[in-house]
Amino acid sequence: MALNHTTMIEPIEHAADILSKAKSAVALTGAGISVESGIPPFRGKGGLWEKIDPMKVAHIDAFLDDPATVWNVLIKDMKTVLDTARPNPGHAGLVDLERLGILKTVITQNVDGLHQMAGSSDVIEFHGSFAWQSCLDCNRSIETSQVDLAQIPPRCSCGGILRPDCIFFGEMIPRDALVRSQQVSAACDVMLVIGTSATVQPAATMPFIAKDSGAFIIEINPEPTPFTSRVSDLPLLGGAGSIMPRLLKAIRRRLPST
Ligand code: NAD
Ligand code: ZN
Repeated sequence: MALNHTTMIEPIEHAADILSKAKSAVALTGAGISVESGIPPFRGKGGLWEKIDPMKVAHIDAFLDDPATVWNVLIKDMKTVLDTARPNPGHAGLVDLERLGILKTVITQNVDGLHQMAGSSDVIEFHGSFAWQSCLDCNRSIETSQVDLAQIPPRCSCGGILRPDCIFFGEMIPRDALVRSQQVSAACDVMLVIGTSATVQPAATMPFIAKDSGAFIIEINPEPTPFTSRVSDLPLLGGAGSIMPRLLKAIRRRLPST
């Protein structure tokens, strides 16, 4: 049986061929893209869920029932890690793709703000942001980096308890984020799916929306996911921080004087 052309060339070269011709690519990112920035994912190797039960700590009912416990076992550690986390070459690669006119939008399930810190200009935060906290009583906003952990749960000056501006399980996806994500997924020519386990809905529907609208799906993940056999046209097995620089190098070789 003869091999066709695409099975013979290296997957990164194939991805570079596709991306160098793309005009409206979109990235869907998950916790995996931030692993090389020192932020543990939820699932997969070293994931937080190996240690704690998500429904016990990351559900809105758990938070409202016992905010001190959820601050102690989840939010406090997240704040400590995110206060000092910096973007890695995976995030930087997406900024480069935007500057080359290839990538339009990043849809991220992450709440760590690292895409914006790296320089991506159009980031849809599908699950909200950990950068800010809101008071449960007066709704005042406070930057997470300014929150004092001496008192748990931390409180607003009015005495109300603070909560992060990212969503807990059991809460609605911010409507604007959902609608825009569906729009950009339906309009993209290539979708890069990076570091997501394809288990959190409705974010996991975006690659299917893109594919149904004719987009080519490139997946970057060190492990196969439910997307790999069902929707990915081209899986690139590896960490985002090592794959993205190689991909960018291969793309630049194909573009005139960049
Ligand atoms: P997940 O934790 O369910 O899965 C992580 C995925 O990343 C796995 O498929 C794993 O194989 C892959 N991965 C591990 N290392 C990688 C690397 N170096 N490069 C690329 N991929 C790598 O992640 P999810 O699908 O995003 O779902 C988790 C939910 O938890 C999301 O809703 C997200 O909002 C939230 N979360 C966010 C953060 C963050 O903001 N950084 C961290 C943990 C969880
Ligand atoms: Zn208040």
